[in-house]
Amino acid sequence: MAFTNQVQAVAICRTPYKQKFGIPRQPGLVKSAHGYVELQAPFNHIDSVRGLEQYSHIWLLFSFHENLAQGWKTTVRPPRLGGNEKLGVFATRSTFRPNGIGQSVVELIGVEQLNGKVRLNIAAMDLLDGTPILDIKPYIPFSDAITSAQGGIAHEAPHTLPVNFSEQAIADIHSAKQSHPNLQALITEVLCQDPRPAYKRAKQDLKQYQVALYDKDVLWHVTDDGIVVDAIRPGVV
Ligand code: SAM
Repeated sequence: MAFTNQVQAVAICRTPYKQKFGIPRQPGLVKSAHGYVELQAPFNHIDSVRGLEQYSHIWLLFSFHENLAQGWKTTVRPPRLGGNEKLGVFATRSTFRPNGIGQSVVELIGVEQLNGKVRLNIAAMDLLDGTPILDIKPYIPFSDAITSAQGGIAHEAPHTLPVNFSEQAIADIHSAKQSHPNLQALITEVLCQDPRPAYKRAKQDLKQYQVALYDKDVLWHVTDDGIVVDAIRPGVV
């Protein structure tokens, strides 16, 4: 069916996540991830968010803009199933979708106006830094929260791993305290999700991984006892 409505970004989302690897697979899992949504012209008027401050959470509809060029697939292999089983694209939250649209409920910390820019301060997002926001709506608990709902393959929050820090990593975090006071909590919440591809999880894994958070590269590896953060370096992203 032909469809003529033009979709444009109403805002841009700024987050600690500078690359896709390491971003939690759903919102709400990493509460220490703080960022903001900045309205874009011609929507950047404080009146367009008047009343939104009364809500603790908002829906963000956004473009999976980094994946659009790769198109979409009829079936996908959800990480939840270890990457071994295929499900239909519309039965999953795959980022490779016909219209490339994502949706996330995030915590709304506050609304502010700064040098003529309108910002929604948010937390617990699962969005890449720079993600175009297509729409913003208040989260309405009486209707949006369905406590009796069945969650299919994603009924429970994902299993987490313990995260330990080397002496070097602790020293690096200490050095970054001024600019990133919550860095250790953020790293812990991100890495305990075990961002590795599903097929890596069942095997011994000697690789050192890197996750980009803010302007830092976090280096880590996996042992039988969980995740070990080796060091935090200035980022290259
Ligand atoms: N909560 C949303 C949903 O259900 O539509 C997103 C779920 S999707 C599985 C979450 C993943 O999308 C993240 O782990 C990250 O890898 C990816 N992602 C986030 N922002 C993106 C963007 N702008 N472009 C492409 N992929 C993105």
